[in-house]
Amino acid sequence: MPLDDDCLFCRIIRHEIPTGIVFEDDLVLAFRDINPQAPHHVLIIPKDHIPTTNDLGPLHDDYLSAMFAAARSIASDVAVADGYRLVLNCGEHAGQSVFHVHMHLLGGRAMSWPPG
Ligand code: AMP
Repeated sequence: MPLDDDCLFCRIIRHEIPTGIVFEDDLVLAFRDINPQAPHHVLIIPKDHIPTTNDLGPLHDDYLSAMFAAARSIASDVAVADGYRLVLNCGEHAGQSVFHVHMHLLGGRAMSWPPG
């Protein structure tokens, strides 16, 4: 899907809204979450307007692969050697508030389970 003028994260991809960008390549952008829930909290997004993980299909495999590669690279850069958590919320009950697929990378503290 093309970028959507009404989508916050599409506008961040276009650099229309300033963020703390930590990683960028042809397929993904990663930036610091505005309301961090851990010492390291980064959002990794595909450069394509995909509203939820339910909208992912085989044509998106390259984006998914690039998102995980970005996560590995960022985790290595910020030295979260003790582990980190990757979260994808899908839909309102899961807490999704921005309807453009995004992976949360959380690290820098011990995590509890189950999540709330
Ligand atoms: P979710 O609740 O899973 O949809 O996650 C959306 C995330 O986007 C939340 O953690 C927000 O804090 C974050 N967020 C919203 N607006 C911005 C922004 N302008 N820059 C960075 N992060 C944002």
